Amino acid sequence: MVPVLLFIALWIHVVRISKPVINPPKLIAIIIVCIIMVLAVIKPAASLQPANTNKLISIIGLDWFYLFIYPVLKGMPAWLSWVMMSAVTITVTIVPWLIRSKKPAPAEIIKDECTGCSQCFEDCPYEAIHMMPRTDGKPYDMEAFVISKRCASCGICVGSCSFNAVNFPDKTEKNIIEEIKNAMAGIKGGKEPDILGIVCSYSTDLCEIIDPATSAVKGMPNVKIITVPCAGMIQPSWIELSLNSGANGVFICGCQMSDCHYRLGNKWLEDRLIGERLPILRQNIDRSLIRIYWQSALRTKDLLAEIKIFQEDIKNKKQKDYLPEKTRIKKGRLALASITMSIPAALVFYFSNANYMFSNPNDSLLKLGIKHAGKRVVECDEFKLLAEEAKKYSEELKQTGMAQMDVTRLGNCSRERHPVYMEMYIGNEKRLTKSYKSSGWKRDGSSFVYEKFLLKPGRHSLLIKMRDGENDNSFNYTFEGSIETRAGQTITIDFDEHEKRFFIK
Ligand code: SF4
Ligand code: SF4
Repeated sequence: MVPVLLFIALWIHVVRISKPVINPPKLIAIIIVCIIMVLAVIKPAASLQPANTNKLISIIGLDWFYLFIYPVLKGMPAWLSWVMMSAVTITVTIVPWLIRSKKPAPAEIIKDECTGCSQCFEDCPYEAIHMMPRTDGKPYDMEAFVISKRCASCGICVGSCSFNAVNFPDKTEKNIIEEIKNAMAGIKGGKEPDILGIVCSYSTDLCEIIDPATSAVKGMPNVKIITVPCAGMIQPSWIELSLNSGANGVFICGCQMSDCHYRLGNKWLEDRLIGERLPILRQNIDRSLIRIYWQSALRTKDLLAEIKIFQEDIKNKKQKDYLPEKTRIKKGRLALASITMSIPAALVFYFSNANYMFSNPNDSLLKLGIKHAGKRVVECDEFKLLAEEAKKYSEELKQTGMAQMDVTRLGNCSRERHPVYMEMYIGNEKRLTKSYKSSGWKRDGSSFVYEKFLLKPGRHSLLIKMRDGENDNSFNYTFEGSIETRAGQTITIDFDEHEKRFFIK
């Protein structure tokens, strides 16, 4: 059931996510499939031996990924295992609420500007935009509406809208246009080309590169930076505006492809720049004055080097493709990646079937496995009472022609049972004195006895006593005898409810 339940949980998780990506990149998928196939051949999954209740479980190969809990539970008392499992479950359940950061304000649609083109609806990675019939009488069929609860405040819809119809309260389009103009106006000139960078705050370690006093790159006063929550928020028209405001070049920096913090921002922006998604970058814009970097914050230093190269290229009027080259994986890195992925493979190899000693194979085991119902606390014979009532009813019916059966006496019978008390001696040693409560809410079911005793192989005398009624220091059932055990053998003692005697299985 565990994989089935996990599958259901995964399915619920996936249907609640819009545009989910569940497959790894092709190369990683191929390497993983190869590793799994090699593992399957050299270490096939095999069943354990058939269950045999007469055999002591000693050393068995355990799949530690799924069954680790059994050795853990064996080493602690039952109550502690319940406490531990409950604590872990509660902690894991509430952690997402504990670490949830404060959400920025959601996007808002400026209804008067919206033409109902649906581009924001197409682009929102969180399905937070809903298109609905127009309500204000404007000559468009639809209008966009933001479902605030779903909005992750990525700003991608700002970049999607060609009509300035999305307001992003934390950073409005007007703010950004002003920021671009101010940044360009603030550059004092110099030998190096003036460059404006529009940088997604997740793709770069901003503290490492920006001088907070000037918002220029440290050591490069001619390179100013403005930040956005996601590269997908960038409108191609902002690039044009920057160039028209005096920038000799514009660069954009976002997360690595397939690793966008907001899932699709970098992909949508790239599509806009190559003209495959609205709004597009106009054809008359000189692409040699634009550079795009998709990278991770871990490679912030590389970005500084790239900016220097960009400045040199502008100075030397060097034409270069503005989009980053598709990353080609070098043989050395491929080999390193394969070796790195072999580490979890080696762990799978070992821990999917690593031996664990549940008990010493030189021991034998005596089990007490009994299901027995204690006597009623208040003796009450329902059949007898019912027969008496039935008799009374039929007599009354004969005499008066009408009668009513009274079963309240039956209902008043308490069904509670005494606990079952056990004592057991192995040799001269008293190994068990314990009372077992009746099961059920009303304590009216059977008592269950399940005890295990490790023994050294050989002959052992046994004395078992059981009381199932009131505690008057006497016992209702007794077993006296001996057993012969071999190493690795399990012997079970049960109680026959019909013959009312103990027996050895
Ligand atoms: S992209 Fe802009 S104009 Fe188009 S539906 Fe969305 S808000 Fe309205
Ligand atoms: S800000 Fe992001 S999540 Fe919110 S509506 Fe716009 S695109 Fe969707």
